[in-house]
Amino acid sequence: MTATRWQRARQITQIASVILFFLLAFLTYRGAESLVPLDLYLRVNPLVAFAAMMATRAFIATMALAMVALALGFVVGRAWCGWLCPLGALLDWTTPKTWKVSTLRAFQVSPNIKFILLLVIFFAALMGNLTFLILDPITILNRTFSGAALPALNALILGIETLLTPIAPLAPIVDFIEQNFRGTVLPAQQTTYGLGILFALVFVGIVALNWVASRFWCRYLCPLGAVYALQAKISWLRPRAVKECSHCAACMKACPTGAITVTKQGFTVDSAECVACMDCVSACPESVIGFRPPTADRRPQISGGQPSAVGGRALSRRQFIASAATAVTSVALFRAAPSAQRDDAFLVRPPGARENHFLEKCIRCAECVKVCPTGGLQPSLFEAGIEGFWTPLLVSRLGYCDFSCNACGQICPTGAIPPLALDAKRATVIGHAYIDENRCIPWASYNRCVVCEEMCPVPEKAIRLDEVDVIAPDGARVHLQRPRVIHTLCIGCGICEYQCPLVGPAAIRVYAPTVFPSRA
Ligand code: SF4
Ligand code: SF4
Repeated sequence: MTATRWQRARQITQIASVILFFLLAFLTYRGAESLVPLDLYLRVNPLVAFAAMMATRAFIATMALAMVALALGFVVGRAWCGWLCPLGALLDWTTPKTWKVSTLRAFQVSPNIKFILLLVIFFAALMGNLTFLILDPITILNRTFSGAALPALNALILGIETLLTPIAPLAPIVDFIEQNFRGTVLPAQQTTYGLGILFALVFVGIVALNWVASRFWCRYLCPLGAVYALQAKISWLRPRAVKECSHCAACMKACPTGAITVTKQGFTVDSAECVACMDCVSACPESVIGFRPPTADRRPQISGGQPSAVGGRALSRRQFIASAATAVTSVALFRAAPSAQRDDAFLVRPPGARENHFLEKCIRCAECVKVCPTGGLQPSLFEAGIEGFWTPLLVSRLGYCDFSCNACGQICPTGAIPPLALDAKRATVIGHAYIDENRCIPWASYNRCVVCEEMCPVPEKAIRLDEVDVIAPDGARVHLQRPRVIHTLCIGCGICEYQCPLVGPAAIRVYAPTVFPSRA
């Protein structure tokens, strides 16, 4: 196949991969069935697989596919980065056309940073910490999609609908959108995420770095790229020269990752940086370069007097030690922080997560956040300390744990949230509701309100109404129904807090379950 055809095949593969990623993301958010696993891009991710297995000291069967991806890395090097990674494809498509190789030369950033980050992730994982997995590209895309892009898209469409509805001829368009897309492609209700803007900024920052150098993220920072880069140093297929080179440097200019250096002696390829895009093969006017296996007799293939070098800048001993020291110091500081010593009162985890070595298993992938139908699961900031950064917690004022839903446990790729059957999930205590009598309407305002009692989904009702006759501040005698929580029945689903009609904080709030044990 010609280089041009390979390039065309790569473009099609990238488009297909991005479409598949977002299709699976939409299907996940709808909780739909799918022929391929909804978390496919995490299952084939050797970075999260190894880190999670190191942290838990156990083989995670759902991540076995990552071993296949890893094996392929020894054959095709960083082809994942050039052909399949959805973030890599988005970066390719957003690289400014005016970017010049000279721009990069002005920045002497070491490609070894990504290897250092990789080692920090693995050393921290050995200590049972997965905080640094927030740098994994698939988890970054997941958080951007579920925490920022989809809510923003929905808000935009709702805004447009508000404008169109009063215009009679255009109103049917609104009806069509609502009837055909609401609850399927679009969320049934507007979700909001406290950290959505931060997720968007991280993504925009990664894209903006393309203006410094094409694929800046992939060259210097991506820890998943670093896994494949290590393999690429010894991969079977890689760019190799087959004849004399005229040193025109066309390949060097074409290479989007700066993997090629052309000198008077010939060209060298840092195979750790090569993403198998074929741009150099296509650019070479004399067909010197090919993406090839080693020759059968294993003699070096000469190009302008130099073999096409394997290249790669080895991590120095000092950098290795610095990586280990960074991981050990960071994890020690995380654990010494006050927030790590005492849980936040409102740290309500998804069902079954709290008892399950949660922090050692949660890879911060945000699949549970994406699948939660009410938007109640939110990525945490410091509620669980820095070690729990961006792990999920239930924020009941924004959304509740639906009594008929157990989706988060089914989608979680590492078992951090156990896959509870619906009956078991319904009996699992995730928190406890407490009434603030200084704000609760029947208690504080002597008016009628039974919303929380009506909403409580527990069949025996974890909120009961006490009939009382009281004297109001104006001297009138009033008959009231005052809510009271039966703590041995409350599971902490949070629908009472969500539905409480007060403006601002609810008069009933769900706290972390520190007092009452599980009913299961
Ligand atoms: S708990 Fe949520 S964020 Fe953590 S690994 Fe499971 S699905 Fe991903
Ligand atoms: S959190 Fe509220 S709605 Fe849920 S079980 Fe407890 S009292 Fe009922």
